[in-house]
Amino acid sequence: MTGSCLCGAVTFTATLEAPHIEACHCTTCRKWGGGPAFASTVTSLDLPEDAPIAYFASSDHAERGFCTVCGTHLIWRMKDGSFVTIFAGSLDNADDLPLTGEIYVDEQPATYAFANDTRRMTGAEVIAAFSTPSEDT
Ligand SMILES: [Zn+2]
Ligand SMILES: [Zn+2]
Repeated sequence: MTGSCLCGAVTFTATLEAPHIEACHCTTCRKWGGGPAFASTVTSLDLPEDAPIAYFASSDHAERGFCTVCGTHLIWRMKDGSFVTIFAGSLDNADDLPLTGEIYVDEQPATYAFANDTRRMTGAEVIAAFSTPSEDT
């Protein structure tokens, strides 16, 4: 899939791990973006070398990439590069991607609730899923 930031200074091509979107309700995402974050995991992400992207280390293990011209939020990734997500709002032609999961539901404020039928995971469940060594190939 293709995507871009709001001003167009950053364009990219991404291959999604699966054609769906997950929402994160964590305090960090909401503080950063003004609301819950919608993102898709990618298996590859091609960015122009000169793309004006800066990365902010939002925790000791992860960082968030944004366009330095317009501020659009684009990327959440593990610092070691082992896991990369693209913020769904930056994707072109993504209107049909279903919302299948919600994470950090224990940090979700009472302000809103999605009507979508999703798999809901607490922060502890997410961390446990990340920490479990996978035997999958
Ligand atoms: Zn931009
Ligand atoms: Zn989050």
